[in-house]
Amino acid sequence: MSLEDLYREVILDHYRNPRNRTALGEPQAHADGVNPLCGDEVTVELHFDGNRIDGVSVRGQGCSISQSSASMMSEAIKGKTRQEIADLTRRFKAMMDIEGDGGHTAGLDPERPGAALGDLEALQGVRQYPVRIKCANLAWTTLEEALDHSD
Ligand code: ZN
Repeated sequence: MSLEDLYREVILDHYRNPRNRTALGEPQAHADGVNPLCGDEVTVELHFDGNRIDGVSVRGQGCSISQSSASMMSEAIKGKTRQEIADLTRRFKAMMDIEGDGGHTAGLDPERPGAALGDLEALQGVRQYPVRIKCANLAWTTLEEALDHSD
């Protein structure tokens, strides 16, 4: 099995069996995101224990890239502090090459920019497809909005 096949399997697994979809009873932060280019929708709900996220719900509909990215994100941020999440978001965006510099500014390995990001690494191939980057990034921009509107 090639690495690309493996990545495809990981993406499809998250798309078919999305994690953390159960709505939170009393979320402390919430945001809805839309990617009109593709029709993707993502809703993020968060619950905090002090500075740390102890509850997350991510729901939505759309293409496999947007929904698998949301599922992977939900797993990656659970139990993390705001600072850890900000760091993770920065690394994810660098992997996706949002800055258009190949991730060099963030000091990523150009061969494996997603190393150390767990399942999220499976999305690194998306960086070759600028239109799809917006799909992969939707959950993350929605997360940032939810965090901005929480206290
Ligand atoms: Zn999409």
